[in-house]
Amino acid sequence: GASSTEYVSKEDLGRATWLLLHSIASQYPDEPTEREKRDAKNLINAMATLYPCKECQTHFKTVIERNPPEVDSSVSFQEWMCKVHNAVNEKLGKELFDCAKIDERWGGVECFGEDGNDGGCSFEN
Ligand code: FAD
Repeated sequence: GASSTEYVSKEDLGRATWLLLHSIASQYPDEPTEREKRDAKNLINAMATLYPCKECQTHFKTVIERNPPEVDSSVSFQEWMCKVHNAVNEKLGKELFDCAKIDERWGGVECFGEDGNDGGCSFEN
């Protein structure tokens, strides 16, 4: 009814978050500025304190302690993201993702039109 809370499941939260994180990595610059590198690290480190699932925070904290964020280029950030997502997949007993397919899966963000104006966000794949 109108007054009932609509809960967000751990699975929907996870899928939405991975969508955002892999999309950010796919659009990350090949030659990031110091500012961009710092922001990327802060974004990842914030997951270990702010991600709204305690169990996930605790596990992810150990994952990033073992695998510090690699933010020197788009390729390294994308590969790193795939690696830590696989660490979570492994914990949950899910199949591991083939990181050679990362661009095919997540490289299709298109938020800008050909004229460079914001054309809205859609996915090519
Ligand atoms: P998801 O794992 O959400 O993946 C979405 C899609 O990404 C997949 O369908 C696939 O196309 C693609 N994909 C899968 N693996 C990779 C990869 N390695 N690289 C690139 N693309 C990939 N849930 C828990 O129950 N316990 C936890 O401790 C936990 N920790 C989490 C920590 C973080 C930081 C995040 C973001 C999520 C966490 N989750 C956790 C949620 C969990 O990872 C999944 O999002 C959720 O279980 C839904 O899984 P799914 O099978 O739909 O696919």
